[in-house]
Amino acid sequence: KVRTRFAPSPTGYMHIGNLRTALYTWLIARNAGGTFILRIEDTDQTRQVEGATELIYKTLAECHLDHDEGPDVGGPVAPYIQTERRDTYGKYAQLLVEKGHAYYCFCEKTESEEDSGDFNRAADPCRSLSLEEAQARVDAGEPYVIRQKIPYEGTTTFHDAIFGDITVENKTLDDQVLIKRDGLPTYNFANVIDDHLMGITHVVRGSEYLSSAPKYNLLYESFGWDIPTYVHCSPVMRDAQHKMSKRHGDPSYEDLKNQGFLTDAILNYVALLGWSPRGELAEQEVFSLEELAKAFDLEGMSKSPAIFDIEKLTHFNAMYLRAMVPEDFAKVAEPYIRQSVKNEAIAVADIAALLQARCERLTDIPEKVDFFDQLPEYSVDLFTNKKSKCNPEVAKEMLSAAIGMLSNLPAWNQAMIHESLVGLAEGLGVKNATLMWPVRIAAAGKAVTPGGAVEICCILGKEETVRRLKIGLD
Ligand code: GLU
Repeated sequence: KVRTRFAPSPTGYMHIGNLRTALYTWLIARNAGGTFILRIEDTDQTRQVEGATELIYKTLAECHLDHDEGPDVGGPVAPYIQTERRDTYGKYAQLLVEKGHAYYCFCEKTESEEDSGDFNRAADPCRSLSLEEAQARVDAGEPYVIRQKIPYEGTTTFHDAIFGDITVENKTLDDQVLIKRDGLPTYNFANVIDDHLMGITHVVRGSEYLSSAPKYNLLYESFGWDIPTYVHCSPVMRDAQHKMSKRHGDPSYEDLKNQGFLTDAILNYVALLGWSPRGELAEQEVFSLEELAKAFDLEGMSKSPAIFDIEKLTHFNAMYLRAMVPEDFAKVAEPYIRQSVKNEAIAVADIAALLQARCERLTDIPEKVDFFDQLPEYSVDLFTNKKSKCNPEVAKEMLSAAIGMLSNLPAWNQAMIHESLVGLAEGLGVKNATLMWPVRIAAAGKAVTPGGAVEICCILGKEETVRRLKIGLD
């Protein structure tokens, strides 16, 4: 039975790469009718961020990536937060020490020395301490870390579902720290213990972990445990050279939401960064989560890095906005409309109807509709339009005729406004556009508007329309 886990560290935001990992992990579970687990990897106490775990719950819920087990919903292999599993890791580290696959190390090394790889394990005197000697120093209260004892000789081979068989020389691997001085495990140790104890069948994560995978493999082997299927996802790049990075200003999931992208569009786009449908679905671009869950397969995953293209995402977003039922669109558009249209007498739904086919991001909206609230200052030059055969002089003539006609309308709706204006143009012997152009300019005060003269006047109401057309006369 397939069991997968999403194992984020609570950093305070959701990287696009992380979101994609969560999605693929969820899809693998759902595709197989398996179980999707959320595990919080918080053993790096220096990186704690207030509210970060809540943000993970919120994001998964918003993205409809529901988990069957996790800290907030419980489950048979609880706890699901690594700092609450502290004793477990110690026990297993101890076991490895006894089996000769790990050792106590008392050397004073700063973390940065560790990270830089400057530390030469062959020179570590602790590696060859006898268990008794080491135990005596531990009992005496000397601070220590526990390191994995990696053989100097030979090679390690592991299999990844995407990258195939990978073999490395053991001498290139370091005796990584399993348990830190503070008694907490490193990610490198905890992930193996937890994935085993939680019965994880598919370990899905970013390809930045590929280089550590041989060490994880050796750990599984040292314990005599089954090795899960590794699924390393190729990186999401900003361009051909650079991985996306929050630190370098690339957007996180939250940033994209704030930039006016819809969750569903983001998920759909992200799904295709690193996976492509095959067979009869090969040409399909738009997928609901359910469709993805049905179609997703490891064979469709790509080894090559994917470039995150905000234009492409924008295209998806526009498609998703257009495909929404009008009521739903009005609901998501409302806060953006109300950012600039404060007049409560103006109905959001009417403006939303004009916008739906004309916006790519929700954040485009306020600037597109601000004229409903306040007539902008504009120059008479705006009345000049060759195609409509209009200029400031013609505009005056048209506007005064329109004012006369519109102020006497018995009712105010699109059909009536349309009919009366078309009738008026006919009576004046001009093309419709010659009348509609100046009416729209005077009503909106700008040349680019969502909707035409009729729609705009209808939303503004009779009184405001007439007031604005009169201003156009001056
Ligand atoms: N906590 C790790 C991260 O956020 C998870 C890696 C994994 O899924 O194993 O990068």
